[in-house]
Amino acid sequence: MAEARTEPRRPLPEITELTAPFWQAAKEGRLVMQRCRACGELTWCPRPSCVECGGEDLEWDQLSGRGTVYTFTVIRQLAGRGARAFEKDIPYVIAWVDLEEGPRFYTNIVGCPVDDVEIGMKVEVVFDPVSDDISLPKFKPRS
Ligand SMILES: [Zn+2]
Repeated sequence: MAEARTEPRRPLPEITELTAPFWQAAKEGRLVMQRCRACGELTWCPRPSCVECGGEDLEWDQLSGRGTVYTFTVIRQLAGRGARAFEKDIPYVIAWVDLEEGPRFYTNIVGCPVDDVEIGMKVEVVFDPVSDDISLPKFKPRS
């Protein structure tokens, strides 16, 4: 007798004390990052101290949400059981996006056919509400 095939669950980010402001802003449709009050540099991903100077006085700064595709890949087939949760999305795009403010952001490109995605493409953030608490920042072609 065949076992019932259960719907695979997607792994979701864990909200911690450190990352809570990021996820709260995402839920509100805002992309934010920590900025160091001592040297002014942005720190990504969330950390207790600045990656440039080690300063611990960080504030959350709202970003433009605009960027440029640095590089990307198109996922066209499953690779391993752990990927089953993403089967329905195939084909989909995983990309590095260079944000206008500097940091490089690991994300998905959505809102266009996968074959339209290009290096250098201008994109803007959109938020995908995948649970009550988590809205994932993804990027679409800039309108
Ligand atoms: Zn700093």
